[in-house]
Amino acid sequence: MSPSYVDLHCHSTASDGTLRPADVARLAKDSGLTAFAITDHDTVAGIGEAASAAGSLGLDFIAGIEISAEYPHPGTMHILGYGIDPESPSLKDLTETLIAGRDNRNPRIVAKLNEMGVAVSMSEWEDGAKGSVLGRPQLAAILVRKGYVSSIKQAFDKYLGQGAPAYFDKERLTPKQAISRIRNAGGLPVLAHPTQLRRENFAQIETEVKNLLDLGLAGIEVIHTDFDQKTVDFLTQLADRLKLLKTGGSDFHGSNKPDVKLGVANGRRIPRAFFDHLIFALMPLKGSGSVP
Ligand code: AMP
Ligand code: ZN
Ligand code: FE
Ligand code: FE
Repeated sequence: MSPSYVDLHCHSTASDGTLRPADVARLAKDSGLTAFAITDHDTVAGIGEAASAAGSLGLDFIAGIEISAEYPHPGTMHILGYGIDPESPSLKDLTETLIAGRDNRNPRIVAKLNEMGVAVSMSEWEDGAKGSVLGRPQLAAILVRKGYVSSIKQAFDKYLGQGAPAYFDKERLTPKQAISRIRNAGGLPVLAHPTQLRRENFAQIETEVKNLLDLGLAGIEVIHTDFDQKTVDFLTQLADRLKLLKTGGSDFHGSNKPDVKLGVANGRRIPRAFFDHLIFALMPLKGSGSVP
């Protein structure tokens, strides 16, 4: 049998990606993948469209979400939730909390930019986002379009990124809350891109992963666009040693991250087995063989 590949970390226009969920599905098909996940920030609004497009294209699909948890600067902790039930009341409650955190933060970013002489408004950001979750990459794209910066990266370096003048934190869930809320919504919590914790060495990452395991973590992302081969090898053996699920993805954002191709993570592909093991682990939680 020829090898089969997937992508378990993708953003759509429901958050800060630039392709509609159905177009991510189409691209997954055209890229030769057999399964994919949509993991938008703080929302499941893209799941229905992606699932139905996947069905028509003969692709397997798993619902996902990506949540930013509280974590000390300069690190960031993102927790992916796989197999969450998009209809569950606890998920609705969760996404409302997360979006309230953005609604508090976003006007402060815009006010600071205005103070710095950058003419941009909340309504431009909202128009750019077309009703979806407002993320900084969409605002960065507006700053590029208006000529204030020459690239999305420069927008983050100069204005929006951690340590830059128009950076404001949003209220977050603690890691414990993020993990338990994903579990309550019927999903499996997975630590995204563990290198973004910005620990000093692999031993410190291991300590963090073990702490999260005690809180109910189910897996870690072992293949990601940010990783070199040493990191992939370390995280793979860590997951195996701790009996954690392994996931992988490109962190595709369309033209908001122009160097990232769907299905490819720094030259690596993501094996189909990662998807199959996730589905298998979800079965007892769902009480049947069918997983959305
Ligand atoms: P937000 O959820 O609105 O805080 O925005 C988070 C998004 O911004 C994620 O997709 C990140 O990948 C992206 N992001 C954060 N920092 C940077 C950076 N320095 N350069 C480019 N993208 C970034
Ligand atoms: Zn994003
Ligand atoms: Fe992330
Ligand atoms: Fe992401």
